[in-house]
Amino acid sequence: MEKKNIDWANLGFGYVQTDKRYVANYKDGAWDDGALISDSTVTISECAGVLQYAQTCFEGLKAYTTEDGHIVTFRPDLNAARLKASCERLEIPVFPEERFLEAVSETVAANEAYVPPYGSGATLYVRPFIFGSSAVIGVAPAAEYQFRVFTTPVGPYFKGGAKPLTIRVSDFDRAAPHGTGHIKAGLNYAMSLYAIVDAHQKGFDENMYLDPATRTKVEETGGANFLFVTKDNKIVTPKSDSILPSITRRSLVTVAKDYLGLEVEEREVLFDEVKDFAECGLCGTAAVISPVGKIVDHGNEICLPSGMTEMGPVTKKLYDTLTGIQMGRIEAPEGWIHVIK
Ligand SMILES: *Cc1c(COP(=O)(O)O)cnc(C)c1O
Repeated sequence: MEKKNIDWANLGFGYVQTDKRYVANYKDGAWDDGALISDSTVTISECAGVLQYAQTCFEGLKAYTTEDGHIVTFRPDLNAARLKASCERLEIPVFPEERFLEAVSETVAANEAYVPPYGSGATLYVRPFIFGSSAVIGVAPAAEYQFRVFTTPVGPYFKGGAKPLTIRVSDFDRAAPHGTGHIKAGLNYAMSLYAIVDAHQKGFDENMYLDPATRTKVEETGGANFLFVTKDNKIVTPKSDSILPSITRRSLVTVAKDYLGLEVEEREVLFDEVKDFAECGLCGTAAVISPVGKIVDHGNEICLPSGMTEMGPVTKKLYDTLTGIQMGRIEAPEGWIHVIK
């Protein structure tokens, strides 16, 4: 198999069409057999449930080449389980978890020429999603759905080193109490766009969202969970029903406990405590951990002791260990690495 002629090191994070995608359709109460197809477009009713009432949810994971040359994905079973939870909350029929894993593997294998080589820092991003495809005008779940998986090669997240981010406390909320903050739904992102465009215009990289009910507790950013390090090297990560359960964050917690011997507290985190932390990072599939250097609360600046030039030492150890596990340089816990070929 010959790789595509792509400048892997200089790829950004944008959509690049690849050769094949997986499509399955739900009709008359059942999913069809599904297949890989070449057509990258979708034709649906102008009145489709997804277009009128945003009935859709998604997942995001990466396929990449390990040190010994295998193409693998990282804990895709957790993506399958999370998509199931998202579907249940949105009245979307669940795409069976076993079939999800097969669909991801088949799509990656069919686009092998786009899986970046080991050491390039680039990966093949995999986007499974489901949407209501049949016409809905009175508010109700759609009768028909499409499940789809496409891939797109993405470049190294940190080009020339991980530069710490400056984030601000947002005046907007991303999730309502008892709402949909805990599922991976497009609707959570649509409502965050105004806040992120505004943040960027004002010179901030991201928004820190506080709990919507009391605005006293740290929740997450628009697309990544928080992980803090205390001055005595404990890991603290916020717990809340309206945080999206990041697979990266959950994996980092295991790495902290089992590989680095650190104490981990998963609990409510008051915003008032943030000024006392030593390090702060944002966890998600795209970057694994992005270091945060500064948090601005309405003009009041909290400068993390780790500074604005590099990752804090504990964050760096977590990052190096998890990426080492992902790339096959460090032995992984049972079941974390899913070999495709
Ligand atoms: C996807 C997502 C994350 C990160 O989850 P990972 O499984 O680590 O990629 C965090 N927050 C939100 C809101 C997300 O949608």
